[in-house]
Formats: sequence, C-alpha cells, structure tokens
Amino acid sequence: MNHASEFPELMRKLPIDRRRNVPIPAVTAHHPDGEPDFSTVDGREAFRLASEGRCGICAQPFADEVAFLGGPGAAAVGAYHDPPMHEGCAEASTRLCPHLARRDMRRLTDRRSTGELPAGSSPEKPDVWVMWICQGFSGAVVNAMPVFLPEAYTRLRIFTYTADGQLHESFDTTPGVGG
Ligand SMILES: [Zn+2]
Repeated sequence: MNHASEFPELMRKLPIDRRRNVPIPAVTAHHPDGEPDFSTVDGREAFRLASEGRCGICAQPFADEVAFLGGPGAAAVGAYHDPPMHEGCAEASTRLCPHLARRDMRRLTDRRSTGELPAGSSPEKPDVWVMWICQGFSGAVVNAMPVFLPEAYTRLRIFTYTADGQLHESFDTTPGVGG
C-alpha cells in the first residue's frame, strides 16, 4: 500500500521508511544499524540545515515563512530544539511522524531530552502541540545542542489529541502563550 499521495510535494524526494511507510525527515537521527530513529533529532544536521535557510524535514529552502513545532512550554519561552520547517512539512509531521501523530508513542521522545533545556520548558511530553509560524529565526548551540529562537509569531496553530489518541488540529483551544 502506497501513501505517497498523502505526502506534501516537498517531501517526495525523501527516503521512505519501509517499516512505517513514511518519509524520513532530513534531521532524523539513525541507529547504528542504519534504521531511522524517529524519536531523535540529529542536532548537527538540524543546525546545518537551519543555518543554510533550509527546512529540517525536506531540506528544501524556505520561502518567506518558517514554522516551529513544540509544546506550550517551548512556545511560552520562544525557544525550540527541533529545527525550523515549512508550514506544510510541519503539518505533515503531525499526521505522519510516529512520535507526534499518536499519543501512545510520545514517551519515545523522552530520549531527546539529553541536554540542557531552555529555562521554563518542560521535559514532559505535551498534550498540546503548538505550531509557531513566523518570518525568521536565529539559532545557537548550547551544550552541543542547537537552540532555535523564532521571531514573533504571525500565526499559531494548535494540535491536540483526540480521545482515541490521534493528533488533530484544534480550532477552539488557546494555548495561553503570549507573543
Ligand atoms: Zn520542508
């Protein structure tokens, strides 16, 4: 069964994980045996792509907007470990990424929290994902981990888990973060 038609145009050049039949994002780390580790971001690659003005998912250049995806804590602080993405690539991640799309996969992401977190962010995995859409960002490497600092958002999109554990965009919830 081929789900390629569900993938955004920008993601069609990415390698496909045969086990899950999903594209492998450009910044996804790999296990020593070469299998993708969807729960871990390759920080060096994330910083390199972002420095070149390219998307962490599809590795294609940005147009005028970038999107960040994280929990309410990251949105409140305005700092992200996950790299900037195209809005379309971020949206696709909420449907396709194994550790985002389903609530019961979220604990796998705990391994990401191996470095220092920005003040105010929480190591707990969020019940709500906030997509922060803006026109630019800066970045730094802190304790060997990239930290991305988005400009003030132009839009926020909120994603919550349904009762059956699927992540969906919510149109009636506000995250309570300032801009
Ligand atoms: Zn992209």
